[in-house]
Amino acid sequence: QAGPNDLQTKADRLVQMSICASLARKFPKVTIIGEEDLPTEDVTEELIEDGHCEEILKKPCPAQYAGIKEEELVIWVDPLDGTKEYTEGLLDHVTVLIGIAYGGKAIAGVINQPYYNYEAGAGAALGRTIWGVLGIGAFGFQLTEAPAGKHIIVTTRSHSSPLVNECINALNPDSVIRVGGAGNKVIQLIEGKASAYIFASPGCKKWDTCAPEAILHAVGGKITDIRGNSFQYNKEVKHMNSAGVLATLRNYDYYASRIPNAVKESLVP
Ligand code: AMP
Ligand code: MG
Ligand code: MG
Repeated sequence: QAGPNDLQTKADRLVQMSICASLARKFPKVTIIGEEDLPTEDVTEELIEDGHCEEILKKPCPAQYAGIKEEELVIWVDPLDGTKEYTEGLLDHVTVLIGIAYGGKAIAGVINQPYYNYEAGAGAALGRTIWGVLGIGAFGFQLTEAPAGKHIIVTTRSHSSPLVNECINALNPDSVIRVGGAGNKVIQLIEGKASAYIFASPGCKKWDTCAPEAILHAVGGKITDIRGNSFQYNKEVKHMNSAGVLATLRNYDYYASRIPNAVKESLVP
C-alpha cells in the first residue's frame, strides 16, 4: 500500500509491531486495527512493552464504562502519523495515535508526540504524551483557546487538492496553517494555535481520527466529516474518511455552516 502519497518507513513498521503485539498480549480479546498490513507473529521480545501508567489508574472509571468487556473494544493504531513530514525532517509533526472505541464511538485516546521539543535545546524534555477519556478529561498539555474573533484554519501540508483549497478560501480565514498529521492538527486546536481543522478530501482514515477525536471530545470539542456526519469506529467500518474532516475546539457550528454546499456534494461519505 506504499506510494508517493502513502509512504511507509521502517519506523512505521516497528512501532506498529510493538504497539499491536504488546496490546494483543495483554488484551487478547480486543480487536486491534493498525494502519500497516503486517504480521504480529514474528515480533521480537524487545519490542514488547508491558508497563502501565499509574496516573491513569488513579482516576475513577466513569460509570458508563464500568461494565465494558474486553471483546467489545476496538483499538485503532496509527504507528506514525505524518510519515511524509517525518521523511522530510519535520519531526514535530509526527505523532503516534492509539484510539479506543466502544459501541462505534471513540471513547479514549493517546497522542504521543515523540519529537516534541526537538528544537528546544538540551535542557528541554524530548517528547510528550497527551491522553484523554470521555467523562474524565484530557491531560498532558495545557488546554488553550484560539485567539477570539480570528479564523485560523489548520489543514494538510502534503495532500492538498483544488477542493481542499476551495473549501478553505470559502471560509475567508485570517490565516492558514499547513502542517502534517491528523494528530498534530488536533493538537493545534487544543493548544489554541488554530480555530478549525478543515480537510475537504478523502485520504484520512479511522486510525488518524479515533485517538484525536476522543481527546477533542473529552475537552468539549467536535469532529465530523465535512458534511457534519460523525465518525463510527466499530470493527466493520470502512477505513477511509471519504468525506474529509471538520474539527474545532469551539464554534463548530460557525465553520460547519460556512462550508459551501458544492464542496459537501463533491464528497461522498
Ligand atoms: P495530512 O493532513 O496530509 O497530514 O493527512 C492526515 C492523515 O491522512 C495522514 O495519515 C495522511 O497519510 C492521511 N492522508 C491524507 N490524505 C491522503 C492521501 N491523499 N493519500 C494517502 N493518505 C492521506
Ligand atoms: Mg496517519
Ligand atoms: Mg501512519
